[in-house]
Amino acid sequence: MPSIFTKIVRGEIPAHKVAETDEFLAFLDINPLAEGHTLAIPKKEIDYIFDIEDEHLAGLMAFAKRVAKAIEAVVPCERIGVSVIGLEVPHTHIHLIPINDIDDMNFSKPKLSPSPEELAELAAAIRREYEE
Ligand code: AMP
Repeated sequence: MPSIFTKIVRGEIPAHKVAETDEFLAFLDINPLAEGHTLAIPKKEIDYIFDIEDEHLAGLMAFAKRVAKAIEAVVPCERIGVSVIGLEVPHTHIHLIPINDIDDMNFSKPKLSPSPEELAELAAAIRREYEE
């Protein structure tokens, strides 16, 4: 069965996309830890990040870097924290999270619940920065 992220890649379910290439996609996390929390994924469904072939993994990291720079330009923060967990969705995704404090990376904290309108507006702003 395809992962929920493969369904996003195929356009079968909606997502607030911020960046896309032939191989990679980035979209806002639907239950963010912080405003601007974004997931960068390979379009090819591979569960575990360290099963990704070297060149593809390097491409994913370079993509995540460019997305992080775009997030930083929109969301005031000290830096973008990076985390890979994958216990919930078995399709590699890099969490890119605007942080000011170590606690901002605490995945046990209650998540935010932004409205679809807020997510759409934020995604558009990040997309503009990414495309510049
Ligand atoms: P994990 O697999 O533990 O790294 O967490 C999966 C992440 O994916 C969580 O932060 C979820 O909020 C996020 N997530 C799950 N479904 C969606 C979706 N349809 N759109 C955006 N983010 C999602």
